[in-house]
Amino acid sequence: MKLKALSQLAIKQGFKLGDDIVSIGGYKVIDELDFLYYDNESKFDVELIREGKEIKIKVSKKPFDSLGFEFDYEMKPYVCKNHCLFCFVDQLPKGMRETLYVKDDDYRYSFMCGSYVTMTNVTDEELDRIIRLKLSPLYISVHAWDDDVRQFLVKNPNTKKLKDQMRKLNDAGIKMHTQLVVCPGINDGKVLVDSINGLHELENVISCAVVPVGLTGHRGSLADIKPVDVDNAKETIKLVEDLHKKYEGFCYCADEYYVKAGVDVKDYFYYGAFDQIENGVGLLATFKDNLEYQLENAKDKDVNKSIGFITGASFAPILREQLRAVEERFNIKATVYGIENNFFGKSVTVAGLITARDILEQVDGKHDFYVLPDNMLREFTDTFLDNYKVKDVEEKLGAKIIIVAHDGSDILNKIIG
Ligand code: SF4
Repeated sequence: MKLKALSQLAIKQGFKLGDDIVSIGGYKVIDELDFLYYDNESKFDVELIREGKEIKIKVSKKPFDSLGFEFDYEMKPYVCKNHCLFCFVDQLPKGMRETLYVKDDDYRYSFMCGSYVTMTNVTDEELDRIIRLKLSPLYISVHAWDDDVRQFLVKNPNTKKLKDQMRKLNDAGIKMHTQLVVCPGINDGKVLVDSINGLHELENVISCAVVPVGLTGHRGSLADIKPVDVDNAKETIKLVEDLHKKYEGFCYCADEYYVKAGVDVKDYFYYGAFDQIENGVGLLATFKDNLEYQLENAKDKDVNKSIGFITGASFAPILREQLRAVEERFNIKATVYGIENNFFGKSVTVAGLITARDILEQVDGKHDFYVLPDNMLREFTDTFLDNYKVKDVEEKLGAKIIIVAHDGSDILNKIIG
């Protein structure tokens, strides 16, 4: 891996641009995680090739003083080797951005970005590497603690090693967040209870999210899976809440269960450290709490505007309810558009999977401006899932679109100005 940038400290230690780093701390360099780890250390050896010659540098620095290494390579994600019964990628319609069809399953990105992995492609050497580099926490898709049920869902014999892998990580102090994607009739009910109990036995498993299976209208010849219905959602909520009480936290149903069951979500404090908020656990409670906080602290103002709020079908009734206090106090006429998902299928009701085309088919252009959550756009961009830009939609609607944080943390400030 050739250096393309480095800090003054690294130059003082003897490194040069273009050095080809071979090993660090006695271990062959695999990727930037090796450097992340050693940047926090004070003394270690680095072997490199410079102009064809092998050179060894003994680094001596304060821990956490960074060598600022950057490399001329891209860390391509490891591809998944499973055939999960419920794989969302398999259910995507054709014609979307190519990156959306990539099935990644990479422990390194789990550590760096919090993406969930199944561990089926992690070798024994890599497991040792995770422990050596202290890649903690990791986010692990377990689905079922029972090996046979998990194998039925994941369709990869390597998944039978998961319990041993997790026990080894647990013994080494690696923290783990876990998720169980639940398919009614397969891993719900007793299997779900046994899974939560089994995970709770490992002291370094610190949370478990119970997430309903996501089914689009594009399953074609894929296996039949029952969607979560009202009764199943209510039963699952009861099971998980009983265990949450027993374990004083630890396991949580995704908000989608509460929406499906037509039951109020729990209050803010139920969700503890919000470890699984990126998995849709506690997001509604956060939204409500954030909006209440802004209402308490906002100055009265006569905004006198008609605003269109664009969201997914499941959140629309909740948002309508939440906006009542905003409408009255700031003289706002709020119209909430709960967009029906024609692109993925009507069973997909979350805001994060709404396309611009569905918005344009269902929203009329009669408001002063529109508000939509940032999770409808590709992260750090202004691009929708179907490649439309925000400005394309603004042009067609003939009005400005204001993007707000999906946790509601800036919604009031952005709409009252
Ligand atoms: S791990 Fe399973 S759900 Fe995830 S991409 Fe692979 S096959 Fe799909």
